[in-house]
Amino acid sequence: LSAFKNLSITSRITTPFRSLSTLVLAEHEGGLIKTSSLSAVEAAKSLGGGNSISLLLAGSGRSLKDAAEHAASSHPSVSQVLIADSDKFTYPLAEPWAKLVHLVQQSGGYSHIIAASGSFGKNILPRAAALLDISPITDVTKISGSNLFIRPIYAGNALSTVRYMGSSPCMLSIRATSFPVASEPADLKSNVSSIDKVDLSILDEDDSVGKSIYVKLSSQISERPDLGNARIVVTGGRGVKSAENFKMIDKLAEKIGAAVGATRAAVDAGFVPNDLQVGQTGKIVAPELYMAFGVSGAIQHIAGMRDSKVIVAINKDADAPIFQVADYGLVGDLFDVIPELLEKLPEK
Ligand code: FAD
Repeated sequence: LSAFKNLSITSRITTPFRSLSTLVLAEHEGGLIKTSSLSAVEAAKSLGGGNSISLLLAGSGRSLKDAAEHAASSHPSVSQVLIADSDKFTYPLAEPWAKLVHLVQQSGGYSHIIAASGSFGKNILPRAAALLDISPITDVTKISGSNLFIRPIYAGNALSTVRYMGSSPCMLSIRATSFPVASEPADLKSNVSSIDKVDLSILDEDDSVGKSIYVKLSSQISERPDLGNARIVVTGGRGVKSAENFKMIDKLAEKIGAAVGATRAAVDAGFVPNDLQVGQTGKIVAPELYMAFGVSGAIQHIAGMRDSKVIVAINKDADAPIFQVADYGLVGDLFDVIPELLEKLPEK
């Protein structure tokens, strides 16, 4: 890992495709690769034996360097780390990233390109696919072979099996919750021999890259676990009735070390910001425990949490559809149940 060597990309002529080789587009924050990107590596692993997996990171300065080192030691299946170090990548804007993917693909001839299906991947993949003239397969939840994939359709009410018959590379976005990262032994050995720098001179000459600019990031600084990866999620729906009442959900989450989620109705009513929305048009979660308070269980909500290991629903309507997917259901008023839970649950 010592040397950062230059990967020379001198030709625009497409290199012939390697047998099974995957380029994983990785997102990083604070010098660490995001868990969702490690899930993309897990997905790449399941494409088949002998797959050589390269991780592509972009950014600038210290945080990229730290992330590259983390990438190199983060997963034993990764054999190469590629970094694009430029001010153009300080923020993950889709245009320069898409050009980067195109550039790296031309040199590397990968058979597959994979990213997690978060806002990062969803932003970049369609543009990169257009540049490569291929059609991506999105939201893959299971890989049955190098060209056979399963993905949910109709808000998760049906699963479709897709055989990719298009030209290489085959581009996928995967649902991170369907490819959990296996915990690695403490003495994990890295299989990455070097961190290679992508030659970006072609991009430097390309002025079409600056069509969008980064304005600002508004995010809540919280001690809480990230909603997408939390072991426990406590969700409030329209039944919580107000932003003020939602503080009860916060308190409960605080007490049991959970992330807070919400339905779209709760978000639309202004109880909480929309980054807490779980569902078809929100985040997809699969925690060990999902607790839903005042949530009816519309299919669009279920689509985002149905893979949770244990689902607990509290609703005052015994016929609420949420009870059809719940492992434990309590017909009751959340304004009685939550204070009682707060009183009786031990501190985390
Ligand atoms: P409601 O359906 O109004 O249910 C509130 C529930 O609270 C009721 O069951 C009621 O019995 C219960 N309740 C009320 N008071 C109490 C009390 N005191 N104690 C206990 N229970 C109580 N929704 C999502 O959540 N996520 C999505 O990503 C999403 N995407 C969508 C995409 C599309 C294209 C469309 C059309 C819709 C989408 N929706 C989504 C909206 C979805 O259809 C539902 O409208 C929404 O999930 C309902 O939210 P809710 O359960 O909070 O509200």
